[in-house]
Amino acid sequence: MLKEYDVVIAGGGLAGLTLSIQLKQANPDISILILESRDKAAETAAHKVGESTVELATHYFREVLNLKAYLEEFELPKHGLRFFFTDDKKEELSNRVELGPRLKLPVPSHQLDRGTFENYLEKHTKSLGTDFLLAARAKDVVFGEAGGLHEIIYAHEREDKKVRTKWLVDATSRISLLKRKLGFQKEAPHNVNAAWYRVKGVIDIDEWSENEKWKTFLAPKLRYLSTVHFMDKGYWLWIIPLGSKNTSIGIVADEDIHPFDTINTYEKAVAWINKHEPQAAKFVCPPKEDLMDFRILKHFAHDSGRIYSSDRWAVTGEAGAFLDPFYSPGSDFISLNNTWLSDLILRDYKGEDITVRAQIYEQTHLAWYQSWLPIYQDKYKLMGNTQIMVFKIFWDWAIYWSVPCLLFTNHGFTDLKILKELFVSEKSLGRKFGVLNKNVQDMFLDWLPHDHQTFENRYIDPLDLDYLKSFQRGIDEMHVNPDKIIAKVADNMALLEQVAASMFQLISNKIHDTSMSVKVDPYKISLKTPYSETEHVKGIQPQQHVIKDVEKMWFYTKEVLA
Ligand SMILES: Cc1cc2nc3c(=O)[nH]c(=O)nc-3n(C[C@H](O)[C@H](O)[C@H](O)COP(=O)(O)OP(=O)(O)OC[C@H]3O[C@@H](n4cnc5c(N)ncnc54)[C@H](O)[C@@H]3O)c2cc1C
Repeated sequence: MLKEYDVVIAGGGLAGLTLSIQLKQANPDISILILESRDKAAETAAHKVGESTVELATHYFREVLNLKAYLEEFELPKHGLRFFFTDDKKEELSNRVELGPRLKLPVPSHQLDRGTFENYLEKHTKSLGTDFLLAARAKDVVFGEAGGLHEIIYAHEREDKKVRTKWLVDATSRISLLKRKLGFQKEAPHNVNAAWYRVKGVIDIDEWSENEKWKTFLAPKLRYLSTVHFMDKGYWLWIIPLGSKNTSIGIVADEDIHPFDTINTYEKAVAWINKHEPQAAKFVCPPKEDLMDFRILKHFAHDSGRIYSSDRWAVTGEAGAFLDPFYSPGSDFISLNNTWLSDLILRDYKGEDITVRAQIYEQTHLAWYQSWLPIYQDKYKLMGNTQIMVFKIFWDWAIYWSVPCLLFTNHGFTDLKILKELFVSEKSLGRKFGVLNKNVQDMFLDWLPHDHQTFENRYIDPLDLDYLKSFQRGIDEMHVNPDKIIAKVADNMALLEQVAASMFQLISNKIHDTSMSVKVDPYKISLKTPYSETEHVKGIQPQQHVIKDVEKMWFYTKEVLA
């Protein structure tokens, strides 16, 4: 007689482990087996990427999975995302335009040592009653007929073994057991590659400069706690501190601008860093024998044709879709994915028919992927343009904090009333959100041929902008019912429309010499042709406080505004 489970999760990485904890916390009676092909404990530091977390995933780890105490004791607090844009030489950090928070952020986030974290999650899920098998490689599945149990075949102790389960969850990351079996692989139109490695010890960028004013602008030991991005056309280089007192370094680069074969060995990566980030090269390129690891990944973005099936199978984490790590959103997608999936499994366990929910969650999940794609697609060519990138990064944060983070912390993604109201009709707020974002992202691309100025010696803090501060603070505000949540999304959308209109006024003034007081329909903005009043009959005039905020991001001289 084969052993039977309610849920078998193939792959005990971040997605699989956190799903098991979420399910067990909601219902300790659910029986779960995790099959993990790794045969020993995860390495400290040199385990996986996915070290930097942002607000949505942090809320998931701290509040949904109750890991706050672990995170505060064993992982590092993160001081936001921090960006250094290009100057001519890239040899003196304090000379480069820097974007990042100066004071402690109101909403927390963490830097994760993935080895330490996964070992802890394994121990924790076992303590909740999950069976966890190391050195167990899921090989195949025979799907049960007419709602019957699935049979999973896995290799363990040099034998093929079998286990039966109601639900099979594929969390094998790029091995993608189910995608391959059922043929729902899907290419993503975003061709970016990465190379990364871990080095022993702490790298504190405050020590790279003698400029005392710059060094003390932030409290000591705060700057290095950020996820640091050094940027120029076609690439960003990351530095991420780890709780194990080691440091993660990575290059992420567009294939068309910095081909993969210029970064795909350590020797080439060092030569590349020396050429493109000469100051960083002095601190982040130890001799090869001192490296903890070196890894590469070509064309990492991928899409998925399916996510959740009411036939009781699903994918989570990178076994589904993955886009781009620029804003550290990998764990956000895992949080959303696991939240939808655990809701389906728990309802099914109670005997509810999940057919309609599974379809709605899958459509919403895939639609989010599509609406997030324009944030990254073709945008690496903008990374050498400081002014465009400052607008873009602030816009991208605004849309992220004001809608998906708010919906997630308020349990909006599993509320059918909210999903229906926000996404079903063409005129719904969620659909408008996608159109507005696509227009703004296209505006950034159209701005590129007109933006030639290099800027230096500036610091810009997202929390100097009131609208960004209010969006970030809003993440943790709980709204009492679906109507209030929808009303808050509507308010936030109205503010986003004003920000888009105000950005357009400035850029169009510079490029096409339009008046600063033109009315702007944020759903019609385009820089391809000069502004036309007839296009903008439904235009709005942004309020003064929004205009003031947007002007804080504007680096060109004021005369341009006249
Ligand atoms: C360059 C880069 C940088 C990134 N940076 C960030 C970041 O800063 N922040 C962030 O949030 N995300 C980041 N990500 C994304 C992040 O790495 C992923 O979202 C996350 O690691 C995916 O977790 P997972 O559980 O799907 O996969 P994994 O954590 O890789 O887990 C998959 C598990 O499945 C096991 N496995 C594989 N095949 C089998 C099998 N047949 N049977 C049993 N077990 C199997 C593997 O051993 C592994 O443990 C980054 C991604 C890239 C490419």
